[in-house]
Amino acid sequence: MDLAERIRRIPDFPKPGILFYDISTLLIDPALWRETIDRLAEAAAGWRPEYLAAIESRGFLLAAPLALRLGIGFVMVRKLGKLPGTVVSHSYDLEYGSDTLQLADGLLEPGRRVLVVDDLIATGGTARATVELLGKVGAEVAGALFLIELEGLGGRDRLGVPSRALLRFPA
Ligand code: AMP
Repeated sequence: MDLAERIRRIPDFPKPGILFYDISTLLIDPALWRETIDRLAEAAAGWRPEYLAAIESRGFLLAAPLALRLGIGFVMVRKLGKLPGTVVSHSYDLEYGSDTLQLADGLLEPGRRVLVVDDLIATGGTARATVELLGKVGAEVAGALFLIELEGLGGRDRLGVPSRALLRFPA
């Protein structure tokens, strides 16, 4: 099955000049989605993670079935103000302004081996911030796994941990 071909491309979303890679066309097809999760599970297993950490919100769609398949847990990394209880925060710069990611405090014991998961890496800013956030709670970040990597944006170099993507597209 050709996953790359089946991902829907939407020009000028969310703003002019951005080509949006939409995984809805994988999610709607159970055979295709199973193949996606199977292939991600194969890639993830090499890292021997104890937990997955997934980035809101499409990262959750990948991480939930992936964690089940691997027989490990997953923790949610969310945008500012979405998580209940005490949280640990990490702010990072965007092209214009800044953003904040949060993780529940005390959920993950220090020293756990964690793999970061998201649907797509572009500039790497979001994934880098997630790696730093996990560092704040004492996690050992083994690496980062993506379905899609946009090439030529330097995202992979920005992460500071080994990373892998199943598919590569031009930015
Ligand atoms: P970045 O922080 O630049 O690596 O952006 C990655 C985050 O933004 C991921 O959570 C993606 O879901 C989303 N994203 C960025 N660019 C695209 C794109 N062209 N198509 C789909 N999602 C994107």
